[in-house]
Amino acid sequence: MRLWSRELWRLLGWAALGTCLGWLLGLPGLGLAGGFAMCLVYHLRQLRAAYRWLTQRPQDEPPAARGLWGELFDRLYRYQKSQRITQSRLRSTLARIQESSEAMRDSVVMLDRHGDLEWWNSAASNMLGLQTAHDRGQHITNLLRDPRFISYFNARDYSEPLTLTSPIDERRILQYQITLYGDDERLVMARDITRLHQLEQMRRDFVANVSHELRTPLTVLSGYLETYGEMADQLPPRLGRSIGQMQAQTQRMQNLVNDLLLLSRLEIDQGGQDHQPMDVTSLLNSVGADALALSEHQHTLTIEGDYPAQLVGSEQEIRSAISNLAFNAVRYTPAGSEITLRWKAFGQGACIEVCDDGEGIDPVHIPRLTERFYRVDKGRSTATGGTGLGLAIVKHVLLRHDAQLQIDSHPGEGARFRCVFPATRLSTSATPPRSVPTVT
Ligand code: ADP
Repeated sequence: MRLWSRELWRLLGWAALGTCLGWLLGLPGLGLAGGFAMCLVYHLRQLRAAYRWLTQRPQDEPPAARGLWGELFDRLYRYQKSQRITQSRLRSTLARIQESSEAMRDSVVMLDRHGDLEWWNSAASNMLGLQTAHDRGQHITNLLRDPRFISYFNARDYSEPLTLTSPIDERRILQYQITLYGDDERLVMARDITRLHQLEQMRRDFVANVSHELRTPLTVLSGYLETYGEMADQLPPRLGRSIGQMQAQTQRMQNLVNDLLLLSRLEIDQGGQDHQPMDVTSLLNSVGADALALSEHQHTLTIEGDYPAQLVGSEQEIRSAISNLAFNAVRYTPAGSEITLRWKAFGQGACIEVCDDGEGIDPVHIPRLTERFYRVDKGRSTATGGTGLGLAIVKHVLLRHDAQLQIDSHPGEGARFRCVFPATRLSTSATPPRSVPTVT
C-alpha cells in the first residue's frame, strides 16, 4: 500500500511540476499534459525493460528499478527461482523413476490417453522391438498388431493378464498386464515367461506320457483279472474275493488314467475345429439315461429342455462335462433324490443346469471344488468311484467354450451346477420348442 501511495505521489509530483513550468510559460494546461507524458514515458520504459528481461534473458538478474517496479521485478525473480528449483527436483525424480524402470527386466511402456507411445525402457525395445526414433507417438496397436492384443487392449478389462508370443521372436512367451492410471493413461508391462511356460509344458507332457504308458499294463492286468473273475467258482473263496477287489482297484486306476489323459488333451489341444451346433435337449436326454442306469433307477430324473437355441461347440466335450455333473449328482445324493437337467435362456446367453436335492456342499469348499483331486469327503469320493478330476474336467471344457461354471449349494439344500454360455455360442436355427417328459 505504501508503494502504491508513493507511486501516486510521484504522479502528482510530475503533474505539479509540469503545471508550474506551464504556468511560468503561460500554458498551465500544456504543462500538466507534459507532466503526465513524462510519467507515462517512465512507466513505458520500465515495461519495456520487464518485457526484454522476461523474453530475452529470463535467467539473468532483473533490471534495476525502484519503487513499485523494483518490488514487482523482485517478486517475479523470486517466483522464477522457486519454479526453477521445483522443476529441477521434478526432473531428477523423473530421471530416477526412468532409471529404475530402465533397470527392470520387465518391459514398461507408458501410453498417453489416446494409447500413443510416450516412453518405454530398454527391456521393451528388446522384447517388443520398439525403436525410439520411429515409434514415439505411434499408437500401440500399430506396433503390437496381434488381434488378441488389440481386442485385450480395447476391451479395457485388465483383471487377467494376456499371454502371447513376442512380436519379434516367436520362441519367447510374454505375459502382458495393463494398468489404467491418471487421466486415462495406460501402463503396459510385459514379462518374459518363456521358462515358466516350458516348465508347464514339461509338466503337461510328463502327465500325458505317464498316463499313456500306464494304459497298456493296466489293460493287460484287467484282462487277466477278468479271466480269473470268470473262473471265481473254481478258486478258493478268499482268492475269489481278492480278485474282485483287484478288479475294482484296476478299474479305478483305469478311470484315473482316462481322466488324466482327457485333462491333458483338453489343456494341450487348442480345440475349436470340431465345433458344430448341437441339440442340447437330446444330449441331456442321453446323459440322463446314462445317469439313471448308473443309479439303477433309484433316483428321479427330470429334463427341462424346451429352449430352442442350439449350442455351438464340441458335442463330445460338452457330453463329458455334463455327464460328470450328472454322475456326481447320482453318486453324492441318497437313493430317492431328485435330479434335474435343464437347458434355458440365461442373461445374454443360455445355461445348462444340473440340480439335485441331496445333502449339498458347505460353501467353504465351493471355491476349491474344481481343483484337481480336491474332495469334500475323500472316503466317500473314493467309495463312489470318483477320481477327483471330474469338476476339473468340467472347468476346462467350459473354458474352451467361453463358458463359466457357477456352483450354488448349502448343506441340506442340494446343489446346483450351472454352465453359463455366452450368446456368441448359440445358434438360433429355429428348431420348434419341445417339451420333454419326466423320466424316472
Ligand atoms: P470326484 O471324482 O471325487 O467326484 P469331482 O471333481 O467330480 O471329483 O468332485 C469334487 C467333489 O465335489 C466331490 O468329491 C464331492 O465331494 C463334491 N461334489 C460334486 N458334486 C456334488 C454334488 N452334486 N453334491 C454334493 N457334493 C458334490
